[in-house]
Amino acid sequence: MPYQRLSNFVLFSELKLNRISSWHRWEILYECEPKAQEAGCTKCGLVSESIYDHREVRVKDEPIRGKRVFLKIRKRRFFCVNCQKPFTERLDMIRQKRRTTERYRASILWACQNFSDLSRVRKAYFCSDGFLYQTLYEQLERKVKEKRYPWPKTIGIDEHSFQKRRRGAIPFVSLIVDYVNKKPFELADCKTADGLEERLKHIPGRENVQNVVLDLCDPFKKFAKNLFPNARLVADKFHVLRLLHPALHRYRRELPAHRKDRKIRRLLLTAGHRLDWFDKSDLWNFLNENPPIKELWIAKEKLHAFYRIRGLDRAKWALHKLIEDISKSELPELKTLAKTLWKWAQPILNYFLNQKFGETEIRTLV
Ligand SMILES: [Zn+2]
Repeated sequence: MPYQRLSNFVLFSELKLNRISSWHRWEILYECEPKAQEAGCTKCGLVSESIYDHREVRVKDEPIRGKRVFLKIRKRRFFCVNCQKPFTERLDMIRQKRRTTERYRASILWACQNFSDLSRVRKAYFCSDGFLYQTLYEQLERKVKEKRYPWPKTIGIDEHSFQKRRRGAIPFVSLIVDYVNKKPFELADCKTADGLEERLKHIPGRENVQNVVLDLCDPFKKFAKNLFPNARLVADKFHVLRLLHPALHRYRRELPAHRKDRKIRRLLLTAGHRLDWFDKSDLWNFLNENPPIKELWIAKEKLHAFYRIRGLDRAKWALHKLIEDISKSELPELKTLAKTLWKWAQPILNYFLNQKFGETEIRTLV
């Protein structure tokens, strides 16, 4: 019974301990053999019980109390009637053609994370530098694969910068979020359609993606169309609502600086229906003095009103009306807006198929 316990502790469930053969000062050798009575042929899968001959293999296992541990396994070779050939049985814990167990390799990763330096790991695990590095990278790769899950049903794409705005170019990354689980899914350090495709094509299950929520940017659109054949593109509501903000700011900056300016700046960007009576009156006094800003502001409010509509048919009608109204204007910003809305009409309208897409702003998920 104690022997059985020791066997369970030291070995794997698929092995049976026969003898502890060598008690060297630095080394322990466990002689063991597989428990199973039969094995499946490695070529055709047919189960065989007829033993052809035996092979002995010696594999390195996780060290115990600073001693190296070896397993001497007496493997059987079975004869397959189907293939008319013998085959060697395989064990789950040792990959083919390897001389170390998988748990030995896994524990190297643990040691690399917990020991103070790699040479200590090398000494404790009795291995070479080359083996150590190779195993470490292999195990890290395995960890990364575990974290990586297939494409979710609804994803969002947005650009994101981890640096504050300074002079010169800002390094942007493309951020992919899992929209349903509300968490970042993947980052790519590029913004072009080809670059994104190159960096993200290894992730499995791209036919799962049914909805892609994206900002109004052509590379993302191209990327989404190429990589996700079954997906419907949905324009991100928050990006559409912000389309006029830069123009509003620009016009406001051209005006002479004023004490009330700061307040007006805030009021200009707040949705009109959220303002109280006093704010509204301040804002309207300002707008009546500055006709171009008034025109832009009204267009912005119309966009907000458009997004309060429920139902695709009503939205379709309203979008056409909105584009018609805006394109009558003389302001170049509004002409551009009309063009953008026209170009992105379908993704904008797709939002009204499922208004859950507007619940979360992509950048809040970072
Ligand atoms: Zn066979």
